[in-house]
Amino acid sequence: MSNRFKPVRIKGPSQGYCQICCKFGALTYDHVPPQGATRLTSVEIRTLSQSFGGATAKPAYSQNGMKFRTICSHCNNVKLGANHDPHLIGLCDELTTYLRAVVHGNLFVGDKRKFIVKPQRIAKAVVGHLLAGCVPESHDVEPISAPVPDTLRDYFMNENAPLPKNVEIYYWLYPSNIQKILNYFVFADIRHKDFISASVLKFFPLSFMLLWDKPQSVTVPHQLLLPRKDIGIDEMEVLEVDFQIIPPTNWPEAPSDNGYVLFNDSVTAVAQEKNKRIR
Ligand SMILES: [Zn+2]
Repeated sequence: MSNRFKPVRIKGPSQGYCQICCKFGALTYDHVPPQGATRLTSVEIRTLSQSFGGATAKPAYSQNGMKFRTICSHCNNVKLGANHDPHLIGLCDELTTYLRAVVHGNLFVGDKRKFIVKPQRIAKAVVGHLLAGCVPESHDVEPISAPVPDTLRDYFMNENAPLPKNVEIYYWLYPSNIQKILNYFVFADIRHKDFISASVLKFFPLSFMLLWDKPQSVTVPHQLLLPRKDIGIDEMEVLEVDFQIIPPTNWPEAPSDNGYVLFNDSVTAVAQEKNKRIR
């Protein structure tokens, strides 16, 4: 049966293979986005194609945000929860506080705002949640070994590993409450010859896009999270958030007139507060 008619499998069994470290054992719920980065609300979760509309399956429901039972307690609570998530959450909190002050104080937002962060930890958090959000067909089978997931797992598991040479992570302001985790899709513009392989993690106030083997012909009009891929795990860096260049909230997964996109629906999830229509 087409995934178009299957709800997103958020629950999963209590035991299985961890999607990050690939060990068999008890599975725990990973919240995407991480707990603390966003208010946990009652959400409907659809695949990407279901979110585009039409007569499809009922959505999956969660009372406390988008979550997937896919990873072990160590990857979830120690590596993600204690080591990396606090840095991603800290950036999101600081940016949200700033945006609220701008809105409530009727202030001029300016072109850009700088934040001091530990970008290597933020990148590892993003990669960890992308891996956790990749729900397998069966939790009883060892996660597939393939160049992209293997590289991302190694990068996540080894705290001192630099961002791999053929991986880039971009970020931009994401002014939407729709949360998305879209793994391993390809998009392109019919006017150009090259495809772009991407995974995307989006939740207010930021969107992260991980590119794999970006063709030289492709220019991404957003900032790199790790311009220096081997920056130390606890090295601080200035991260600029641009308030002028903001793509449509459904870019790049919803193609424009000259674009097209290829994706595996079963590794996509789109969460929206219950009873609000997806736009
Ligand atoms: Zn694990």
